[in-house]
Amino acid sequence: MKRLTIAIDGYSSSGKSTMARELAKRIGYVYIDSGAMYRAVTLYALEHGMVGENQEIDSERLSASLPEIRIGFEPAGPDGIQHTLLNGRDVEKEIRTMEVSSSVSPVAAIPEVRNHLVKLQQALGEEGGIVMDGRDIGTTVFPEAEMKVFVDASAEERARRRVLELQEKGTPAAYDKVLENIKERDRIDSTRAVSPLRKAKDAVTLNNDRMSREEQMEWLIELYNSIVSHAENN
Ligand code: C5P
Repeated sequence: MKRLTIAIDGYSSSGKSTMARELAKRIGYVYIDSGAMYRAVTLYALEHGMVGENQEIDSERLSASLPEIRIGFEPAGPDGIQHTLLNGRDVEKEIRTMEVSSSVSPVAAIPEVRNHLVKLQQALGEEGGIVMDGRDIGTTVFPEAEMKVFVDASAEERARRRVLELQEKGTPAAYDKVLENIKERDRIDSTRAVSPLRKAKDAVTLNNDRMSREEQMEWLIELYNSIVSHAENN
């Protein structure tokens, strides 16, 4: 059977990572969280004093450092979560903090950072059989992907989910702060000059405001099966 490339894009905390991870597991594909790569670069910038008090980034220094930033993934462990590695160090917990969330969108707006990470993402997906989630996967990273999904949900619902997720991870944050961060990231991600967050023309929208995780999975598997059977009959 042909192994597809599956792009899942959407707003912050829309549940796309959970969905993409689960889909990959069920169909035996590799899952890549492209947001984790932007977060790892952001953590590097924070740790090397490249982020100012108002989230202004020393983009020149960061761009020059890109060759020294190695990002990798460790296969999912007992927690079922793939861990992100920054220069060989497991940074899965650090990259999910509010500190990183507050600086990641300005970092992700730097063209050199995007060029660098898009190339890495394309290399990871070269062979197909991949589910990648992010903001520009269906538009820029894999414009030829056979299956493209655009996930949407209200900012309030997304903030509510994110608060729960942060609580579960042992890094609690206040709802108002999370909501503000989500709205600010939506704004920066949608208005940046390079690869802004957009629904690809051929993507199918999934609004999951009122859907359970299982309903979302059923929806995705149905779409996947219809694309596979269409590809096999043509
Ligand atoms: O998916 P997640 O919320 O972890 O992504 C963190 C940030 O990384 C986003 O707010 C966005 O600024 C950036 N990002 C991006 N392009 C991607 C994935 C993430 O610009 N493909």
